[in-house]
Amino acid sequence: MSRRTEAVVVVGAGLAGLSAATALRDRGFGGRLTVVGDEPHGPYDRPSLSKDLLTGRRAEEQTGLPLPPDLGARWVLGRSAVRLDRAGRRVLLDDGSALEYDGLVVASGASAVPWPGPPAPPGGVHTLRGRGDALGLRAALRRGDPLLVVGAGFVGSEVASAARELGVPVTLVDRARTPLEGALGPVAGRLFAGAQARAGVDFRAGTAVRRLLGERSLSGAELSDGTRVRAGAALVALGARPNTAWLRGSGLRLGGGAAPGLVCDHRRRALGQDGAPAEGVVALGDVVAAPNPLPGAGAPSHLVIGHWSEAVDHADAAAAALLGQEGPGTEPVPSFWSDQFGLRVRSVGLPRLADRTEVREHDPDRSRLEVTYHRGGRLVGALTVNRTSRLAAHRARILRERAAHGALA
Ligand SMILES: Cc1cc2nc3c(=O)[nH]c(=O)nc-3n(C[C@H](O)[C@H](O)[C@H](O)COP(=O)(O)OP(=O)(O)OC[C@H]3O[C@@H](n4cnc5c(N)ncnc54)[C@H](O)[C@@H]3O)c2cc1C
Repeated sequence: MSRRTEAVVVVGAGLAGLSAATALRDRGFGGRLTVVGDEPHGPYDRPSLSKDLLTGRRAEEQTGLPLPPDLGARWVLGRSAVRLDRAGRRVLLDDGSALEYDGLVVASGASAVPWPGPPAPPGGVHTLRGRGDALGLRAALRRGDPLLVVGAGFVGSEVASAARELGVPVTLVDRARTPLEGALGPVAGRLFAGAQARAGVDFRAGTAVRRLLGERSLSGAELSDGTRVRAGAALVALGARPNTAWLRGSGLRLGGGAAPGLVCDHRRRALGQDGAPAEGVVALGDVVAAPNPLPGAGAPSHLVIGHWSEAVDHADAAAAALLGQEGPGTEPVPSFWSDQFGLRVRSVGLPRLADRTEVREHDPDRSRLEVTYHRGGRLVGALTVNRTSRLAAHRARILRERAAHGALA
């Protein structure tokens, strides 16, 4: 930004909002910093919502993210941004007030995809995105009602794991043949299927939930193969959608299809309709449709990464861009972790982009796995299960290959 930045507004008081605020101060921003969040509380750790918070290993009060003591931000909590007036450089809030900015950080994250099927009973059907959702689900698990999980992605599989740890019967339904297949491929999927079977999960492969049954509260579901399952609670775990509704009409570019977020460049500057960076607006975290950090043959130009790493690793670049400073020279490689069924799952890169996988180690007895993912002959990702030490070398190779292809080192 050419003029001096004096007032920054951050929309979204989650991980990305906090990371951006911290990075701005680290880069010397001494002006007014306001963070707006529509939840009643400050930033907290979402990954624990599908893991330790459900099992009770972590209490609600222990999920808050630590704030730097000298952050000097004004927190406007329990308020939503409803519109962005870029010409007037104002963010309009749901109480009719407006916040003026000369720098804006869009960090409004994503929301869980709701049940897409025919009308469901009003009680017993959950999604999982916020702390309130997790507490509601935890109460249902504590009652011990059989749980139906719709969707065997990361969140669905982690919740299945937590529920089994609590002794709750679980039916997990997915159109794929194995859990996590869409994200990690069939070899990893078979390892997870084995772990789930040993833990007593009833996994219904190649199946969809047709209807959720019950009058006032959930009693079960009808599946696409015609069978019925009994359940007192259901978790709909069908992914997340970026929170961009408040940006409609602002002239910022919103993506569609595989990248439905706010379209940004590598520095996380939001793009306008003309494809050029919009002045004074950056974005961070799950709301971003980012340029593919591993461009290769036929890969998408933009995608929503949706990992913790995205919200943290790009904060410095976004802060630098907003303050008109030179950014870091290296673009980070995405990474992801998950803990479920006693398995330490770690990945670097973007396995979902692969057109070929290579199994480096597969030891089902010790639940160990190392898989590399390739596209157009280049390494685009690696996954380890109970083999974390192997990842660093793969990350280094991804960086080397990317540099050799002329992309941002
Ligand atoms: C259950 C669960 C488990 C996860 N586990 C893992 C894991 O194991 N590993 C991993 O790498 N990642 C994991 N993730 C993903 C990780 O938590 C996210 O990538 C990260 O939280 C993204 O941070 P964010 O700040 O961009 O978005 P969010 O955390 O969604 O925060 C955005 C905030 O903005 C608020 N907001 C939205 N719209 C507005 C508005 N208009 N006005 C004001 N405020 C608004 C939202 O309510 C929210 O508080 C998990 C996510 C979930 C939901």
